[in-house]
Amino acid sequence: MVPLSDALGRESRIEDGYILTEGNLIKEVGKFKPDSIDEIISNSNTDLIVIGATDGQITSSNDVPQINGVALPGFVKAHGHDHESPLIGIAKDVPLTTWLDEAVNHFTGFLHEEEEALTKKFGQSPYYLTYLKARIDDLQHGITTALVHHCNFNKYHVPELVEANRDAKTKITIAVGSQDRHYDPRILDKPAKVAIERMDTLFEKFTNEPNVRIIPGPDQFFSNGPELLKHLKIWANNHQTMIHIHSSEEFATTQWFTKEYGLTPIEYAQSIGFLDENTFVGHQVHNSENDLQILAETNTAVVHNPLANTILGSGMPPLIEFKSRNIPFAISTDGSGSADNQNIINAARLAAQYQKAFHKNATLMTAQDVLERITIIPSQILNYNTGSLTPGKSADIIVVDLSVPNLTPTRSDNVVENLIWAANGNEISYVISNGEEVVNNYKFVYIDLNTVLSQIQELSELFYAYKKQKTARKATGIRESE
Ligand SMILES: [Zn+2]
Repeated sequence: MVPLSDALGRESRIEDGYILTEGNLIKEVGKFKPDSIDEIISNSNTDLIVIGATDGQITSSNDVPQINGVALPGFVKAHGHDHESPLIGIAKDVPLTTWLDEAVNHFTGFLHEEEEALTKKFGQSPYYLTYLKARIDDLQHGITTALVHHCNFNKYHVPELVEANRDAKTKITIAVGSQDRHYDPRILDKPAKVAIERMDTLFEKFTNEPNVRIIPGPDQFFSNGPELLKHLKIWANNHQTMIHIHSSEEFATTQWFTKEYGLTPIEYAQSIGFLDENTFVGHQVHNSENDLQILAETNTAVVHNPLANTILGSGMPPLIEFKSRNIPFAISTDGSGSADNQNIINAARLAAQYQKAFHKNATLMTAQDVLERITIIPSQILNYNTGSLTPGKSADIIVVDLSVPNLTPTRSDNVVENLIWAANGNEISYVISNGEEVVNNYKFVYIDLNTVLSQIQELSELFYAYKKQKTARKATGIRESE
């Protein structure tokens, strides 16, 4: 067991451990000793569920199955987009703005235009279907808590995302998108107050929804004017929520910004009072010396997405500089359209490998360091009670199967190194989310996986046919001609 607990020390390991949960919280974590386990069993009513027990008949510690795996807290993904789940392998080998136009915005435009026909065909909203697939992708890779940046047309479809989350039994923070310039005119928030009213409505509607938080998530600095951003930040302060945005992802867009305003995106954000410890930005690949100083001074957190940054050729952020200046940062996947999957272990590995190679220094970004940046650190950034196996924390637990050839041999002294360097990222055999077993020996307990996958396959084929007939709008971001 790798508890990542501050009480025990983050590098502590428990060989032969057990975890007892009650409701949606962890109650006990410790070493498996038959006497104390017998006591737990005799003190429990018949509602004691033992993970991995086939017949459920547990009368003594002898009946408890030993799972050959490592238990970890569920992974925490601090930046992703659930609407990209059917976009694997669309518009590849192109830069960010072209990819946004030809993959993401073309697809969401397709859902928008064909919504009625698709709903009829699938017997449910195609948005719901897309979001449910994204929740499956997360669980398959051990992610139990996620920030879902709900950009472009998706800002109109928050209820479908809430429903998908309810069915997947995960935890999500929904950063609701907005934009009032440099984007598809069909979704511009004009006047800007419609974006604020949308926040009011959604916040009120889902106040009592378990496992969902609503925060503002303006898409990009280039697509949101200063007045809109100021109002959204004030809204976040008034509602005591965080705020999230993409920042300094692509070099050309960052450069345009500097030319237009004489300021970098971070300097611009600082000038309108947007940055503080409740703001966290996605990417932040391109940084000036002053940007780094502002991020450190304002305690703004960054979410690094190495899979998307390398595939889209955006570059990689200076993580070692972030570390030396105590700029908090997490490692995440981004949406499946750019990262191509939600393999967060792979993201952690790439982040470490890149920095080691770039700086020609193998001691940088250890396996332990990057593991913390997909668990306890993003949990702190997002202000969740997750990311660690500690009594009182949320019962979000995963088991990584150690019986597979690529993870054999594993010992407790090298288990974290093996997870980061040798795992494929999908050896997650059990997932407990909010105290409920949602994946049992690789099988989804509540979701009919085959039906969802075949419907997503069909949806993707319909989009492919649509793409052949309709050229993508060139509406996103800043182009040479502008
Ligand atoms: Zn993103």
